[in-house]
Amino acid sequence: MSTDTVNITSPTGNPVEDFLRTERMPHIWCPGCGIGTTVNCFTRALIESKIDLNRLSIVSGIGCTGRVAGYINLDSFHTTHGRAIPFATGLKLANPEMSVVVYSGDGDLFAIGGNHLIHAARRNMDLKVICVNNLTYAMTGGQTGPATPLDVITATAAYGTYDPPFNLPQLVDAAGAVYVARWTTFHVRQLARSMAEMFKKKGFGFIEVVSPCPTLYQRRNKMGDGLDTMKFYKEVSKVKHGAPTSEVGLTKSGEIIVGKFVDRERPDFETMMRAHFTESLGEKYIPAESPICS
Ligand code: SF4
Repeated sequence: MSTDTVNITSPTGNPVEDFLRTERMPHIWCPGCGIGTTVNCFTRALIESKIDLNRLSIVSGIGCTGRVAGYINLDSFHTTHGRAIPFATGLKLANPEMSVVVYSGDGDLFAIGGNHLIHAARRNMDLKVICVNNLTYAMTGGQTGPATPLDVITATAAYGTYDPPFNLPQLVDAAGAVYVARWTTFHVRQLARSMAEMFKKKGFGFIEVVSPCPTLYQRRNKMGDGLDTMKFYKEVSKVKHGAPTSEVGLTKSGEIIVGKFVDRERPDFETMMRAHFTESLGEKYIPAESPICS
């Protein structure tokens, strides 16, 4: 895609519309699902950050959130299950000038893709990860996933879950991410601002967006519909910027700590690699040119 196809001064007056592949509508997301809200915030963050759309790629894995790659009118790749991060890593290494955003769900990123995720954070790959956390494997029917809180009814836990979930911000923080934040789909302005801020930061950035799956998670757990969930998010969310990530784990109906938790400086993978080879090889080291984004 080129910027020629993205006109952010849409004649309809809706700045989001031009970022969508409208020929693919209607989308598959259920009424009350939060994923569309995150896409709205994402497009507003793209506008606000003035990111070069010709040097931007979106990579998704498999799942309800993985469909974002198909609906967004940018260079996008819908990859195989759990492989969004390695695909994005290859894309970034081959095209260092490109901004690469990974847009996927909690199941895809933290279960089958978990190993890729922690190593990309450890290496500080310059990737921006947006993780829509609906607390379950939604596309396959609502099974227990790596982020499902305790005492939740799922398709595979009729009497409630008893295995502890990952605390996503803590995991990526411990692995080395330089930017870590969490918002819910109720916090649309904060989320869009946080995305724009993350896009400008070099290194591995991660934003968790707690989002409802009314069809499978809320319904089974008698938590109402999408609107009820927005009211719930409003009631239980507490903004705590800089909160220790070890203290922001999610429970079924307790407080949701939101905010920017981590914003640190450390060299990204490419910077470390170039410095290392310059030191070891001296003049013999010729850094590769960016082959596509020239
Ligand atoms: Fe959204 Fe859940 Fe429906 Fe998937 S199954 S589209 S996550 S509401």
